[in-house]
Amino acid sequence: MDVRDKLEIINEKIKAACEASGRNPGEITIVAVTKYVSVERAQEALDAGLLHLGENRDDGLDSKWEHLGDKPVWHFIGTLQSRKVKNIIDKVTYIHSLDRKSLAKEINKRASGPVNCFIQVNISGEESKHGLPAEDVIPFIDGLKQYENIKVAGLMTMMPNIDDETKLRGFFKQMKSLQAEIEAMGMEHAPCTELSMGMSNDFMIAIEEGATFIRVGTALVGED
Ligand SMILES: *Cc1c(COP(=O)(O)O)cnc(C)c1O
Repeated sequence: MDVRDKLEIINEKIKAACEASGRNPGEITIVAVTKYVSVERAQEALDAGLLHLGENRDDGLDSKWEHLGDKPVWHFIGTLQSRKVKNIIDKVTYIHSLDRKSLAKEINKRASGPVNCFIQVNISGEESKHGLPAEDVIPFIDGLKQYENIKVAGLMTMMPNIDDETKLRGFFKQMKSLQAEIEAMGMEHAPCTELSMGMSNDFMIAIEEGATFIRVGTALVGED
């Protein structure tokens, strides 16, 4: 199926999730995750009208950047090693995986202006997942105010690999409440208005619970 047809299906689902939760589809930004697919397929996503693309590795970003440059708004969504920051910093508009001070320090040092960062939260407490435990998030964000090039746009999470919808919904709800709590603190360096959550399998639940950025790969640009 081409990306245009897949996007139509995704847009219908976004609409349905918004209707179910009294939200406006205009609040949702789709980040098309192109990490599994070719440059041609990523170009197809742009041609279909998708503006935001996500990559999770610096080399993947490099090879797409070579062809697409700054036509898309680029999101770095993967685990980011500090030594790789200099390779990506001038290409990306959003970094979704800020989860430690050493990384913040490096981003701050290498960036030429404020970078929109999402703080990655390990909301399920599952050991294999990256991100800060929920209780560490506010003190961590408070400690970022010394870095003039870090702007905390919002929170990001990945769900554990489970099918239990009630549990997943509970984790998404906890993310929403943490984000709202931080937003209400009104910190100048941390507007924290956004929530990056929901992937191919769970973006409808994520939207119902407050996601503003969904990161969709397989269901949107997957080559089947
Ligand atoms: C791969 C990836 C996605 C997209 O996953 P799909 O299940 O293919 O939609 C989203 N977020 C992150 C951080 C990823 O690494």
